Amino acid sequence: SNPFLSVRDLTVDFHTEDGVVHAVDGLSFDVEKGTTLGIVGESGSGKSVTNLSVLGLHNPETTKISGEIHLDGQELIGASRSTMEKLRGNKVAMIFQDPLTSLSPYHTIGRQIGEVYRKHTGASKAEAKARAVEMLTRVGIPQPKIRVDDYPHQFSGGMRQRAMIAMALVCDPDLLIADEPTTALDVTVQAQILDLLKELQDQTGASIIMITHDLGVVASTAHNVLVMYAGRAVERGTVKEVLGEPRHPYTWGLLASMPRLTASVDVPLTPVRGTPPSLINLPSGCPFHPRCDYVNLAGPELCRGERPELSPHRGHGDACYLTLAQKREIHQ
Ligand code: SF4
Ligand code: MG
Repeated sequence: SNPFLSVRDLTVDFHTEDGVVHAVDGLSFDVEKGTTLGIVGESGSGKSVTNLSVLGLHNPETTKISGEIHLDGQELIGASRSTMEKLRGNKVAMIFQDPLTSLSPYHTIGRQIGEVYRKHTGASKAEAKARAVEMLTRVGIPQPKIRVDDYPHQFSGGMRQRAMIAMALVCDPDLLIADEPTTALDVTVQAQILDLLKELQDQTGASIIMITHDLGVVASTAHNVLVMYAGRAVERGTVKEVLGEPRHPYTWGLLASMPRLTASVDVPLTPVRGTPPSLINLPSGCPFHPRCDYVNLAGPELCRGERPELSPHRGHGDACYLTLAQKREIHQ
């Protein structure tokens, strides 16, 4: 069967005053129906940019996109504005880290959810309000018939996030893109929201792209993972493969910096040393080499000389010159 979303060789360049930002370079991935793909990386790794491309939200004046994005068989690169507008909200919807960026303070929650519904279905105001109440019920807002008339500031942070999920799901999208949806929430609420998303996925069969810097979020929600670094995929596989037998030194670093969910006190994190590279002047060879502890082991000429490709082409793959035996020995 064909994947619901298929991205091939996606390249996104932004033209800025400082030069061309190579935000995404040769990225390929699939999302199957009813599954969740976690896209992980630090900020500037290209994970959000990738998803804006899926939504057609880049400014065509300053952005050059190439490759292929097939959504349910439809090619999105080069699709018209009106085609993309029809898809957004209806087939693909997005939830962001901060609900206040997508919820207007001036309108009630119910009106905002209802407007999205009306735009895509032509429903009446009364029907849209009934739908908003139904959606608030589904996302677990107490007293939905009353709270539907509240303004966003009358909701707690967790409730606003639920309202935004309600708004994203009001037209039954087939693909939900969640960009750091729980980063701003405390741990308990975060777990509730992630559970809610899983529950809704079970009910609707929607596919989800979960963009996060947090492998803990991936572990608890995703089926498959794509680890991104400097606009490229450096590791991909099932959650079990990538978290159980991680192969790329960058993934090892991310794992080491994962907060222990069971810890009762804050455990100091081990961040990946150094900073992400400039996407205008990328390092030669493997873009991770300035931060990598294994350059000498893998071979400095290789690591600094040529960019490693993601291999094998299917299944659990990674882009690093270390041998599989070396990777297993280092990380077990
Ligand atoms: Fe490190 Fe070289 Fe592997 Fe890149 S290819 S991650 S620099 S060992
Ligand atoms: Mg982001």
